[in-house]
Amino acid sequence: MKPIDFRSDTVTKPTPAMRRAMAEAEVGDDVYGEDPTVNRLEERIAERLGLEAALFVPSGTQANQIAMGVHCRPSDEVICEAGSHIIQYEGGALAALWGVQPQVLPSERGLVTPEQVAAAIRTDNIHAPRSRLLSLENTHNRGGGTVWPLERFQAVVEVARKAGLAVHLDGARLFNAQVATGTPASGWAKLTDTTSVCFSKGLGAPVGSALAGSAALIREARRLRKRLGGGMRQAGILAAAALHALEHHVERLAEDHAHARRLAAGLAEVKGVKAEPSRVETNILLVEFTRPASEMVSKLASLGVLLNATGPNTARLVCHLDVSAADIDEALSRVRKALES
Ligand SMILES: *Cc1c(COP(=O)(O)O)cnc(C)c1O
Repeated sequence: MKPIDFRSDTVTKPTPAMRRAMAEAEVGDDVYGEDPTVNRLEERIAERLGLEAALFVPSGTQANQIAMGVHCRPSDEVICEAGSHIIQYEGGALAALWGVQPQVLPSERGLVTPEQVAAAIRTDNIHAPRSRLLSLENTHNRGGGTVWPLERFQAVVEVARKAGLAVHLDGARLFNAQVATGTPASGWAKLTDTTSVCFSKGLGAPVGSALAGSAALIREARRLRKRLGGGMRQAGILAAAALHALEHHVERLAEDHAHARRLAAGLAEVKGVKAEPSRVETNILLVEFTRPASEMVSKLASLGVLLNATGPNTARLVCHLDVSAADIDEALSRVRKALES
């Protein structure tokens, strides 16, 4: 029985065409700036995001953390949503690497309001840390793949800017937001100082992320990448996969979104599962079980449906390049079998 893997959109394997592009990539030593494929990717992604320059890095975590290091000094404060990736899934890097203090804001599905941000920004006071950076996430992972409506994003960014804060966007799934709305990725990114994107999520590349921003910020980011051990040599082999993904795997994200909606609609009919198809905006789907999630996750795994628990009764399912329409039907039939027998 072939397992159907909804744990994450990071589990995709490079396609044969992507592997060919990797094998044929022209390469050089990227730490010397001599890898033509990396240079091409960095130009291409800067262009796509409407920002001046970009830097290819090994992971989304490194892209985000380089941004934190570029914008903040020890004791500075970064304002972000409580469930954001930089808080939940980056190993405490804000504290460990930069001595930065986060101020986390609660939210509905990952999106904070302009009022919340305004209230969070510190006044100049010897007792307080300096509010330095606002960090946002689009789409919002823990929120359930939520897309930031552009106007609301603009309003939140404006509050931060007025107070002199820099703005970072964790756009690990920014192209999902683009495909879901028709707004180009640059619509959000060009309002920020730095934006990170992942090639290894729904875009299906094996490795790699990018951080984009002004030429000056990216120059400093290059220094921090080296400091963190992220200076890669003939990285064009990896950049070729990312270029291939940008060319061939962006528009198809719409399929993942349709699959997630169909999966939600199917699951909503199954006894013991609560799913809300109307809340599925992109490729991520949050569900609630009447039974403990840990129990359901292992039961479903034994039937070849893999997903991750996110709370005592909740779980996350993610659709991606390696889940087909037929897999959705098959997964639904396995879930019915698990819960209705
Ligand atoms: C996956 C992800 C990242 C980066 O993760 P890496 O595994 O380090 O590439 C960053 N932000 C969000 C929202 C993510 O989902």
